[in-house]
Amino acid sequence: MQLADLGWSPFFESYFEEYRIKDFSALRIVRVNRGNFIATNGVGDFSCEVTGKFSFKSEGKGSFPTVGDWVVASEVPNEPKAMIHTVLPRKSAFSRKVAGQISDEQVIAANIDTVFIVTGLDQNFSLRRIERYLSVAWESKAVPVVLLNKSDLCQDAEAKKREVESIAFGVDVFMLSARQQSGMGVLKDYIKTGKTVAFIGSSGVGKSTIINALLGTNRLEVNEVSELGSRGRHTTTFRELIVFPAGGMVIDTPGMREIQVWGDETGLEQAFDDIEELSKSCRFKDCAHENEPGCAVQEAIKNGSLDPKRFESYLKLKREFAYLADRQTMKASAIEKARWKDISKYAKKLKKDKL
Ligand code: GDP
Ligand code: ZN
Repeated sequence: MQLADLGWSPFFESYFEEYRIKDFSALRIVRVNRGNFIATNGVGDFSCEVTGKFSFKSEGKGSFPTVGDWVVASEVPNEPKAMIHTVLPRKSAFSRKVAGQISDEQVIAANIDTVFIVTGLDQNFSLRRIERYLSVAWESKAVPVVLLNKSDLCQDAEAKKREVESIAFGVDVFMLSARQQSGMGVLKDYIKTGKTVAFIGSSGVGKSTIINALLGTNRLEVNEVSELGSRGRHTTTFRELIVFPAGGMVIDTPGMREIQVWGDETGLEQAFDDIEELSKSCRFKDCAHENEPGCAVQEAIKNGSLDPKRFESYLKLKREFAYLADRQTMKASAIEKARWKDISKYAKKLKKDKL
């Protein structure tokens, strides 16, 4: 396997340039243990530690390597070991705030292209919850796709799908049954060589069942096989980043499974802060980010730091909000008009009474 099969792209290449000449190598983290990291280059695995300088310089937990990260490392000669010098910038990241610590975040997983939001079409179904998962997904910069699983248990699946589509602007929504293995074919469009996916959603919605169906075997068995390292030695590498038999990767960690959503999540509008921020650097103040010269958004799409699908959804969401806002003002002005009608009626009546 080559680095590209593991998701290496011009985005990371551009940041790696300065290290290449110094004989460093690029590795992808497949598992994080306490203070120790397992990384791969597609040929072999390395047990890694961060350098003393790295620990000293890093400001918080958020800057430490996590599953899915690309790191700059130096290999220890003749040993499956490497030292991590730095973490390359992340294309996307799921993180959580560390309790009790101000402004420290722990990154759960990085460089995920597509995140499947799984929900059951049974009692688990909740539009509000899907909305919150969407917000978490957009904030991570991974592109969300909604999977309505357990279609075998639902009579009005089509209607539920339409409901989801009405709140998930610009997001693909699919119905499937992991148990019956029906509707699973669409996942191939996202799970491709070099692409990384992840699954989030409440416990019991069918994430493991889907992953196992895609792997064609049990996830535990897959990991047991890869535990026998290339040198025939038994290592204890239980991978949290796994390569699918037909190409593509899945990140499945306890942290990702623990992502939960509750009230007062940041709104969808704020989930696109990065694009709002980019817009400020466009040459024209009223840039529509289409083909204007000096457009920072189009530039970001070109250099791979902004996913075009993410931008598309942002535009759709913006249009939707503009429409809603318009409806609000229309409603407000209708009320205003009615009020004026009442007032003028009243005034006329007063006048008449006086006469
Ligand atoms: P996870 O917690 O999200 O990983 O969920 P699991 O994959 O462990 O599934 C929870 C339960 O739902 C198991 O008993 C599965 O057999 C069942 N399940 C998963 N997918 C389907 C489905 O498509 N239809 C039905 N009826 N049950 C399913
Ligand atoms: Zn622009």
